[in-house]
Formats: sequence, structure tokens, C-alpha cells
Amino acid sequence: MFIKIKFIILIFIALWITIFPIHSQIIKSDSLIDKGGKDTIQTGVKTPPYVDVADLRLNFGSKVGKSFRKIDVVIIHATFYKNTENPHHILGCLRQFAAYNVAAHYIIMRDGTIFRLVAERDVAFHAGISTLPDGTEGAAVNERSLGIELIYTDRETPTTAQINALILLLNDIRCRLSIRYILGHSDIAPLRRSDPWNFDWSKIGGKKW
Ligand SMILES: [Zn+2]
Repeated sequence: MFIKIKFIILIFIALWITIFPIHSQIIKSDSLIDKGGKDTIQTGVKTPPYVDVADLRLNFGSKVGKSFRKIDVVIIHATFYKNTENPHHILGCLRQFAAYNVAAHYIIMRDGTIFRLVAERDVAFHAGISTLPDGTEGAAVNERSLGIELIYTDRETPTTAQINALILLLNDIRCRLSIRYILGHSDIAPLRRSDPWNFDWSKIGGKKW
């Protein structure tokens, strides 16, 4: 009888030893899942707030960045699919980007869905000929910045869902990176660009100069 109980206890301990590490490993790896789908290279310093980002990686409009490139600028853009009855069509917008070999890191749909088009560690061609307040010009602007596109026409304003998504995304970025400038495309290329149009900066806490 005692031998039987001992045997059962032994089996129990053996099972516990076998199962427990697997169980703890599962919990550990689950906590490492990057729920926002963000680049692991830049996360982990602080805990970013939850932001839902879906990947829609492009094979144009960007180049591989230097590892740990310094990002301290965020440029906000607006875009729409021109000459069509469906100006909010994302694939149409992306086709236009492809035609000029340009892209941004993120694009925000009218319903607030955020797509990541280019990994943050990579350099997206979104600023064009432009100048930052500190005098940084040209390609160097792309090198140190992230670009965020919002889909709406020049006759519209961003939706509340778009603004809320943008706020979440900016909060997330600011938790991970030390951002010096948050500006519109028209601030850095005033002679060429007017986007983001009809944009109420007070809704996202103003520009950062
Ligand atoms: Zn723009």
C-alpha cells in the first residue's frame, strides 16, 4: 500500500517536473509576444501603450536603415487616391506611392486601422526635398524620421477614429524613442507640400518644434 502511494507521489512529482518548465516557458514566451507588432529592435526600454498595428510591408519606397539609426522626428502626411470615386482606397494610395517610389512607415485608414508599411528601423522615402527647423536637409530628413500618412482628401478632415489612432501611435513612438520634432509635411516643405490639410493640431497636443 505504502509502495503504491509512494509510486503515485513519484509519478506526480515526475509529471510536475516535466510539465512545469513547459508551462513556465509558455507564459514566458507569451509575455514576449510583441502585441503591437512593433520592431523588437526598438522596444523594451519602456513599456509602450497598446496600439494595434497590422503589417502591410511594401517592397518599394524605402531602404534598409543602419542598425539602431537615430529617430527623433515624426512627420505627419495626408494622402488620397486621386481621380477616382473611391479616394480612400488604400491600394490606390499605395499604387501612387509605388509610381514615385515613396512610402511612409505607417498609414492610417478612415476607420482608424493602422498599417505599418515600412519597418521603423528602415528609412522610408516620405519627406522629399525638405528642411527641418534645425537646418537638416534632404535625404538626412528621412534618415532620422518616421512618416505617418492619414488617408483623406484635401476637402475633408481626418476622422475622429484616425485622430485617436494617431494619438495612440504617437504615444507609443514617444515611449520608445526620444522625439524632438513632430511636424506636418507642409512645415518642412512649405513650397511643395500642403499636407496634412485641414488638420487641427490641437487634437494631438500641438506640433513639436
Ligand atoms: Zn506628405
